[in-house]
Parts: sequence; structure tokens; C-alpha cells
Amino acid sequence: MPVGTQATVKAMTPGELREIGFGLILGNTYHLHLRPGEELIARAGGLHRFSGWDGAMLTDSGGFQVFSLSGLRRIGSDGVQFQSHIDGSKHEFTPESVMRIERDIGADIIMAFDECAPYPCTYEYAVEAMERTHRWAERCKVAYEGFDRLAAGGWHQALFGIVQGGVHRDLREQSANFLVGLDLPGYAVGGLAVGEAPEQRNESIAWTTALLPLDKPRYLMGVGTPIDILDAVERGIDMFDCVLPTRNARNAQVFTSAGVLNLRNARFAEDFGPIDPECDCPVCARHTRSYIKHLFKANEILGPRLTTYHNLYFYHRLMADIRAAIRAGNFREFRDEFTRRYRQDPETVEGDVLKNE
Ligand SMILES: [Zn+2]
Repeated sequence: MPVGTQATVKAMTPGELREIGFGLILGNTYHLHLRPGEELIARAGGLHRFSGWDGAMLTDSGGFQVFSLSGLRRIGSDGVQFQSHIDGSKHEFTPESVMRIERDIGADIIMAFDECAPYPCTYEYAVEAMERTHRWAERCKVAYEGFDRLAAGGWHQALFGIVQGGVHRDLREQSANFLVGLDLPGYAVGGLAVGEAPEQRNESIAWTTALLPLDKPRYLMGVGTPIDILDAVERGIDMFDCVLPTRNARNAQVFTSAGVLNLRNARFAEDFGPIDPECDCPVCARHTRSYIKHLFKANEILGPRLTTYHNLYFYHRLMADIRAAIRAGNFREFRDEFTRRYRQDPETVEGDVLKNE
């Protein structure tokens, strides 16, 4: 899923996302609640109609964002009170209010309100956050069933639960078992990609997926690089969302079969080859690294548009190749070959800092 935080996948039109091949995109409940507000989105006919996207949509629960607002929030047993990062106005998210907001936004898949514990945190805090997540998941289910599971657009919504438990095996197992007991249509693995080591993340994923039903989708939230995705697929994950392809694109970082390149680097000034010689996207068919470097240097809006298109195409192609390899029974070979050629560390340019969304 490309990430469409503010009801737009930055720099892309819905038509371009379709052309690349995406069927599902993500919207952020926290951001959409603050601006333009779910009431307006509901009056517009739901987020699909409001944004002109006729594919499927998923909204996160806003939990990750409000728990990241340290200093701007207060956690109670009932929910979280927080202040808007835009204008300082006061808001409260409870399981019931988040379900109402997600219903009004009208996505096809909605996420239960959860607490993503920080990393590192004490074992005691990981227990507390997990237990709160469980109580809130039960309340989300009750609220969601009370709404008759219909989105603003009139179709059925699917409520996914989020497994927490940090990097602790007993907690991950307890959390997976609890949520599976709620019999939801899909499950997410939350609370990862928050600073833990890749080995800890991979273990936590494996402990969790071992207990999730095989016939329901498993979604790993907020991950990741192509290698992270391969690691997670190997451990049974089906769905991903990540800002990397779009956010890095706006910083002139492009994903290629040989790794990440930064097109701002001087060595691309007269490189008249495509971003990735092995990519068959329209950007690579028409444009050169030299031209795109020039666009970024001249602050032309086309630069980020072209790199975003290519990066999303690269990720979409990666997922399609993974599916094909699984069907053909040669995922391990595919993973090894991809990893052998792919350089993990992104190129950096001096003084270059990744911009936040
Ligand atoms: Zn390309």
C-alpha cells in the first residue's frame, strides 16, 4: 500500500496509482480527523469519492500518531487526549470515537485503536500497552458491530486487530491468541519498525504469524525496505504499508535493482542512462538520471513526481515478483538473488537530511 496520509499519495494522481497497478492505498485517521475532518469527508461521500480513488482503501487507527505526540497527549484507560500538531486544539480518541471516525471516512479496511509502545520500553510498560490494546480491541469490535459494519459509501468494512507485545515472545503470543479469539477478518502486526534491531523484528514477526490463522490476511504495519519486506514475507506476512518509496523519492532517493541511489550526487550530472536499467516503467523508458538530477537541482516539481512514480513502480513490481515466486515455489531463490544484487545502505549526499511527512 502506498501511503496517502492527507487523502493523497504525495505527488501522484489516482490515475497514476491505477496505471502502476495498485489496488489498495492507505489513509491516516489522525491527519484526516484534524484536516479536513471526517464530517466533511462523509458529506463528500466518503474518502474514495472525496479523493477520486476508485480502488480499495485502508485507514490506520491514529494510535501510532497520537502516541508519538509525547508532551501533547495524556493516556487514560478510556482513550487518549491529545493536542493537534496543526493548531494546538484539544481532541480525544477512544475506541468508540475512532470507530466512528473510520466509519465516516469510509475505508474498506479499518484498523482497531491500539497503543504502539515505544522502543525501548520496560517489560512492564509493554504489558500495560498490550493489555490496553486488547481492551480497546474488544470495545472497537462492539462499536463496529453496532454500526452494522457499513462505511459512508454503503459497503461493508473489514475491522483488523493489531497484535502488540513489543519484542517479547510471551507477550506477542498472548496478544496474537487474544486477538484471534475476537475472530476478526484480518490481523496486523503493530509496534515494530520503531527502532528495534532487524533480528528482533524478524523474531517478533515469526512468533506472531505462527499463531495467526492462515486464511486471513496478515499486515505488517510501517515496514519497510525491500529487504525488510522479503524477510517478513518469508515469515508469513501478506500486506505492507510504508512511506519509504514516496518520502525518499521527494529527496531524490531512488530504489533500483542494485540498491538505493541518490540522484543529487554529482556523479549523475552526465549520466544519460535510466534510473534503473532493469525497470520498465515509463519514467525509465523516457528520462535519464542526468535530467532528473537537473530537475531536483532546479527545484522543479516534475523531479519528485518522476522519482515517486518510479519508486512506487519498483515496490509494486517487487511485490508482484514475490507473489509470482511464491506461486512458482521458488521464493527462497528469488530472495537470495534479489539480496545478492541489492545494496542495502542508501547513498547519502553531504548535508542531506530526510524530510518528515
Ligand atoms: Zn523506473
